Amino acid sequence: MSDSLSRREALTALGAGALALGLHATGAGAADNPHAGLMAFKDGQYVLPPLPYDYKALEPHIDEQTMRLHHDKHHAAYVAGLNKALAALEAARKANDFAAIQALSGQVAFHGSGHFLHTLFWNNMRAPGGAGPSAALTAALSRDFGSLDGFKGQFGAASKAVEGSGWGILAYEMLGKKLLVLQAEKHQNLTAQGVVPVLVLDVWEHAYYLKYQNNRGEYVNQWWNVVNWDGVERHLAGMGALV
Ligand code: MN
Repeated sequence: MSDSLSRREALTALGAGALALGLHATGAGAADNPHAGLMAFKDGQYVLPPLPYDYKALEPHIDEQTMRLHHDKHHAAYVAGLNKALAALEAARKANDFAAIQALSGQVAFHGSGHFLHTLFWNNMRAPGGAGPSAALTAALSRDFGSLDGFKGQFGAASKAVEGSGWGILAYEMLGKKLLVLQAEKHQNLTAQGVVPVLVLDVWEHAYYLKYQNNRGEYVNQWWNVVNWDGVERHLAGMGALV
């Protein structure tokens, strides 16, 4: 545990240094997980990272007051909520009492997505007047969206069409190695945006009904007998996630 934390703290420091220089995070840690340098941890807790620029740096396009409220109040509340939910889950594990698992999982999804997405969002912006996408980035966007304009058209349309609260998202699909544009409605529909699934259990009825009928619990219990732990480890190793 402590090894894992010190590694994360080292990655955080590395990333913060790179960001202070206006560069993307570099180095072995960043290669393992390009988001690692953006997230800050202290004593095992998620912490609110400072904005990588001044509150008024994005004016006139985004105003200082909006940035102060958005970062200092909204984003801070997500970080506090995520830490609170994780602490409650630790207590639940120790007591072997998962009566509140539905609510607590939802809290991790809601606050975790809020924290991860806002951290990315701040770093996805910079003062007006900077460079456009590099040739390499333009080539990658053109590969998967036809052209830079094709990407911007789709991303803009997806963002404008999100129903209610939510996000437009450019995401990398790691198994097929392809960029995708997605919409997130709200952001907490029981997944924490920003995570990469590594072990999944299908609990749709089609996955177990012939053998277990309505007894999903027994299906889940028996499922542990067929887990490919080796594959899970390889997936985590590929992302630099092992202790
Ligand atoms: Mn927000």
